[in-house]
Amino acid sequence: MSDTISLVHGAGGIETLKIILELTKDVKLRKVIGGTGLDELDDSALIPISENKFLAITVDSYTVNPIFFPGGDIGKLAATGTINDIAVMGATPLAVLDSIVVEEGFDKDLLLKIMNSFKKVLEKENVALIGGDFKVMPKGSLDKIIISTVGVGIVDKKNLLLDSNVKPDDQIIISGSIGEHGAIILALQLGLDVSNLKSDCETVTDIMKTVLKIGGVHAAKDPTRGGLAMALNEFAKKSNVTIIVDEDKIPIKEEVRSYCEMLGVDPLALACEGRVVLAVKKSKAHEILKELHDMGYEDACIIGEVKKLEPGIVLMKSKVGGLRILEPPLGEIIPRIC
Ligand code: MG
Repeated sequence: MSDTISLVHGAGGIETLKIILELTKDVKLRKVIGGTGLDELDDSALIPISENKFLAITVDSYTVNPIFFPGGDIGKLAATGTINDIAVMGATPLAVLDSIVVEEGFDKDLLLKIMNSFKKVLEKENVALIGGDFKVMPKGSLDKIIISTVGVGIVDKKNLLLDSNVKPDDQIIISGSIGEHGAIILALQLGLDVSNLKSDCETVTDIMKTVLKIGGVHAAKDPTRGGLAMALNEFAKKSNVTIIVDEDKIPIKEEVRSYCEMLGVDPLALACEGRVVLAVKKSKAHEILKELHDMGYEDACIIGEVKKLEPGIVLMKSKVGGLRILEPPLGEIIPRIC
């Protein structure tokens, strides 16, 4: 009997990576000459368009359940997630295309509300909606709505940020407290009281613009599915470095921490939708941090550093000083988080 696909294949951890690699292993043309693509699996692929510029292009599908949650909805999430995957490449987001599939019987006012959230983000970010598609599936054959997006941006070679560019001695900065999006969706799916939780769903373009202006940024990533644990492991593997993070320094809101403890979930594996993790040159780290604080990101902090010890692994320094390996998340914590 052949294997079947399970929810775990869509969780954004090791199993997702494995299925993507299996599905794409025979693809011969894996990038445009001079660009990046399937081998890099960065937040966006790159296509060279001139001597000094690349087109950054990304695609995503949003299936979040529930479709409305404190701090956002599937429309806001789709626009935000797409723009963030462009921005963390060092690129300026320019345009988006969307493909919406809804279930027959879906409330039209709700659809307009979702689309308004989507458009509001694009307007704020000065990003054009340049095309899309709309389809309906018979009742019962789809759970409410799926939004797929393509995002396009332009990046100067000098600003380009690749996951493979983290350097020994870099400092690791997180722009804010982690796991809030994952925690609220998990709590809602379990029917728990969520009065003290809110998704962190926001664009990170202002952060990226500011840190690029200061300089010294080597890599950036939005820790979405798979959370901070996955993002750091991707940095470590693609850059062949060791990342050592300080458990004590990782900002986690008390509400998120207590939900995680109650449910036995690791907050480091929970998705953020409005945070960015940066690998920056040591000499620039404090200047970048101060600027983020001045911008109002008061929880931003340096959570670790990069070494050239055992390439490809992330180590976590515990509160009492011990070191353990921080593995990329395995298995399904929460289905349909984004
Ligand atoms: Mg991303």
